Amino acid sequence: MPAPVSSSDHSPCVDWLFLDLNSYFASVEQQLNPALRGKPVAVVPVDSDATCAIAASHEAKKYGIKTGTNIGEARRRCPDLITVMAEHDMYVEFHHRIIEEVERHFPVHVICSIDEMACKLDAPRRPLEAATALAKRIKQGLRDRMGECITCSIGLAPNRFLAKIASDLQKPDGLVALLQEELPGRLLDLELSDLCGIGRRMEPRLHACGIRTVADLWAADRETLHRAWGGVVGDRFWHGLHGGPTEEDAPPIRRTIGHSHVLAPELRTPPAAGTVARRLLLKAASRLRRMHYRAGHMHLSVRVEQGPRCEAQAKFEPVADSILLSRVLADLWLRVMRQARWQRVKKVSVTLFDLVADSSPRQLELFASADELAAKEQRENLSHVLDQINQKHGRDSVVIGFTPDTVRTFSGTKIAFTRIPDREEFKE
Ligand SMILES: [Mg+2]
Repeated sequence: MPAPVSSSDHSPCVDWLFLDLNSYFASVEQQLNPALRGKPVAVVPVDSDATCAIAASHEAKKYGIKTGTNIGEARRRCPDLITVMAEHDMYVEFHHRIIEEVERHFPVHVICSIDEMACKLDAPRRPLEAATALAKRIKQGLRDRMGECITCSIGLAPNRFLAKIASDLQKPDGLVALLQEELPGRLLDLELSDLCGIGRRMEPRLHACGIRTVADLWAADRETLHRAWGGVVGDRFWHGLHGGPTEEDAPPIRRTIGHSHVLAPELRTPPAAGTVARRLLLKAASRLRRMHYRAGHMHLSVRVEQGPRCEAQAKFEPVADSILLSRVLADLWLRVMRQARWQRVKKVSVTLFDLVADSSPRQLELFASADELAAKEQRENLSHVLDQINQKHGRDSVVIGFTPDTVRTFSGTKIAFTRIPDREEFKE
């Protein structure tokens, strides 16, 4: 539990709140199905003893079962183990509702994964007492609105790196503060491999520098860690460990939005593949608008069935409207298919680069005529209307330039562990 707030005028402060949901997928399953509560549960991708658990409930963890444990082995350790097939769309749905709940209390600065997020605290929440009270409100909010099984461990610390470590120190339902003035403090209870950034390959390299414990690591100077990591990653680690601001504390900048698709055989003719490319672009453009970005660079890549990959790209004044972007794509498509000699297409990728925030100034508009500006505004409004209709009535209710039925089946949203689909994406 956090250290008591001192009564002196110098009260301790923290800058980051890191929230890690406990046994996330398994907890969602227990929330949805009361019969699973209090029982050892493993979430699995397929129904087979040869597979591995992708999550384990608190009760299963007591048997040493965790993410990656082979199910045959898990059953030997715990004959009563219940396996449940993963329901990724449900985990994504809970993820978005959990963020909504956290944001009723404080804005989330960065979503780190489907079950981890971090908040950069503002001046009123930096004093430990206020940060602790916020953490407790978030925990209570999750219990009240998401359900009793949805618990989390929260870490409070001077930077995000240490806040994540703090969130790992007590599970389940933890609340731990690592204070700058108390460092290294509880860090000394950890093994080197407990720290994120120290994997199996890194540990021997630290040993080679004479670092075998967290106490050694704490005592090492920045140059030693620079050498151990072989570059600036070591310097960053040193700053993170000692509570300084780190690069990851800066807001994340999104650089690309893209979609690609391997075509079913019946979609491999050039006209059908062209429709798929347009569909991918509209999906990317819709995401672009939802994230309040414009893009100034499009890249199209096509792999033909027997042969090389053909590519084309174009740069333009940043836009977010589907009609202009569709025109750029039409031009790129012709260029790419000429290279590909109009052969059958196996894979199509469309990527938007050079993203700028919607609020940044549009230079060329200074020189545009009133008619051009009006036309541009109309196109942008139309794009937003298309988004709204598709959100309300389902994906492909309205599209530009093709018949929806030809490609409806391919553009379903799938879960990705590296990127959590937005709920709206299931309809785009
Ligand atoms: Mg977790």
